[in-house]
Amino acid sequence: MGKVGFGLAVGCAVASCAIAATLVSRRVKSRRKWNRVVGVLRELEEGCSTSIGRLRQVVDAMAVEMHAGLASEGGSKLKMLLTFVDNLPDGNEKGTYYALDLGGTNFRVLRVQLGGKESRIIGHEVERQPIPQHLMTSTSEDLFDFIASAVKEFVVREGDNSGLQLDRRRELGCTFSFPMKQLSVSSGLLIKWTKGFAIKDMVGKDVAECLQQALAKGGLDMRVATLVNDSVGALALGHYDDEDTVAAVIIGTGSNACYVERTDAIIKCQGLLTNSGGMVVNMEWGNFWSSHLPRTSYDMDLDAESPNPNDMGFEKMISGMYLGDIVRRVILRMAQELDVFGDVASKLSEPFILRTPLIAAMHEDESPDLVEVSRILKDTLGINDIPLKVRKLIVRVCDVVTRRAARLAAAGIVGILKKIGRDGSGGVASGRSKSVGESLSKIRRTVVVIEGGLYSNYEMFREYLDEAVAEILGEEVAQHVVLKVIEDGSGIGAALLAAAASHPSTSVAHDNVT
Ligand code: ADP
Ligand code: MG
Repeated sequence: MGKVGFGLAVGCAVASCAIAATLVSRRVKSRRKWNRVVGVLRELEEGCSTSIGRLRQVVDAMAVEMHAGLASEGGSKLKMLLTFVDNLPDGNEKGTYYALDLGGTNFRVLRVQLGGKESRIIGHEVERQPIPQHLMTSTSEDLFDFIASAVKEFVVREGDNSGLQLDRRRELGCTFSFPMKQLSVSSGLLIKWTKGFAIKDMVGKDVAECLQQALAKGGLDMRVATLVNDSVGALALGHYDDEDTVAAVIIGTGSNACYVERTDAIIKCQGLLTNSGGMVVNMEWGNFWSSHLPRTSYDMDLDAESPNPNDMGFEKMISGMYLGDIVRRVILRMAQELDVFGDVASKLSEPFILRTPLIAAMHEDESPDLVEVSRILKDTLGINDIPLKVRKLIVRVCDVVTRRAARLAAAGIVGILKKIGRDGSGGVASGRSKSVGESLSKIRRTVVVIEGGLYSNYEMFREYLDEAVAEILGEEVAQHVVLKVIEDGSGIGAALLAAAASHPSTSVAHDNVT
């Protein structure tokens, strides 16, 4: 070999070494990046831990906060609002009643025909429409004029099928799912907006009065007979269907719960008298907070960037409005570690672009190649060609966030059962200790109704929640507790309450606190 040949051979060897070294270094770098992304997942899993021990702490905290909220005004982040509903429908209601349900995403108008004990609900019609985005931040007049005109169109379309003479006054039950200081069963002042609504001139106003004025302006002879929160409507339908129903939980865009409480346990309102001895209490549990809640940096960022920081902490961890955005924040963090996501400053940085139904679809993608995950990443976030192993990681993120939400909601439900002595422990208010055997033998069949798109449409969420309630209660107690999904309860229930308000009886069960 001549000098030139030798030189070439050495040159080639050096070059291949350099290429090999670059490849190895790239591989090492990419492995490091991958490890960092896996680290993001691990950290999330730890931060979202809902061990049974932690869930029990949340149960206790919920029961204790309920107590504090009932003891004094402002005694807890749980407002524990009086509803003045002491008369839940029992099946005797008769006639045609209307309802409207203003809750968050959709607005619904309903007509319900009630046939009394024998025929029950003869029929109901529902009309849904989305609330135009601009009305959520406009004026109260714009919002209620829109609602009144939708109600009027609904009434006009019914023709002669309503069984009502056209000149007869109609009775309306209104469901308004934002915190209200209730003045009576048919009036209440808006305390604050949640779920993205922000109509400033409305805060402090009587919601029923605004609606009544808009209906009158629209030329409709309709009386706002009841004004309730959606959870109260759901409880009304639950109780109408099954008298063992003691609580209702909403898990949709937002989250809330109500239950039947003994009036003498509502200490902040001494001397409160009702025919039944009980009253439905609207917990406004979206605002529940406890240091035992597993909170991550993603939750803190979401809260800090929301229009209502330090507010509705529980709702922000468990409800449909927020779960998608928590997942988006985690994916964004992963994208900052790994360059397969492309330009991370793009759509992934847009708040609320990833809606909860989409995380449900990714989570429930059963195809081996996760084609649905690919499609959603591409169509919604503009991210193409994500490797399968990264897609799998994203599914895990959906799982972790959803599982935490469902299990925390479950702990909240058991917290209510504990407060009213239906969890097998004797209740926090009992003031005397009981043996476990004595408590167990006293557990009565207990129904909790659950309404809302997150619970009813997202199967994995539902399974996690149901499973956690059984896990916390234990097998023996869990067999007495029925979780029942209901639909349109908040609307139909409002119509039932309007009917019950017209013909009151004394049907609220009130012997639930031991
Ligand atoms: P609202 O709470 O506005 O009265 P719904 O009870 O119908 O309305 O709940 C709608 C919410 O439920 C949506 O905002 C969404 O977060 C959630 N949701 C609806 N469908 C699904 C789904 N398939 N998977 C997961 N979440 C869903
Ligand atoms: Mg609703």
